[in-house]
Amino acid sequence: MLIAKYKSTPLPNLKKKAITLFNASIRERDKDLPCISCGKYNQLQAGHFYSAGHHELLRFEEDNVHGQCVKCNYFLSGNLIKYREGLIKKIGIERVERLDTLAAISKRNRGKVNDRFKLIEIIEKYK
Ligand SMILES: [Zn+2]
Repeated sequence: MLIAKYKSTPLPNLKKKAITLFNASIRERDKDLPCISCGKYNQLQAGHFYSAGHHELLRFEEDNVHGQCVKCNYFLSGNLIKYREGLIKKIGIERVERLDTLAAISKRNRGKVNDRFKLIEIIEKYK
């Protein structure tokens, strides 16, 4: 029935909706925290550690996405060395290494992971 609800929604629209809802949930989760990379209390975006563009499998992975300021996310292209340090502090090395493993898998499965069913699941989870 969930599938039926979205059956006339084109895939790009499903993806856009899933991204909007997921990123909003990350900003809400981290709203009282500083930027994962620089530690400053600035307005936060949802910043991916492994970029969503290169690692589709990690686009909607909560451990891979954290509140990050515009400067680090955008102008410093993720400020990734500091991001990793902040990430290890926040979620621990085991969960960071799990992301490393998923990222390696994701490269081999580029473009095959977030199909309609997965996107609908994300929309329903975060709406
Ligand atoms: Zn920052």
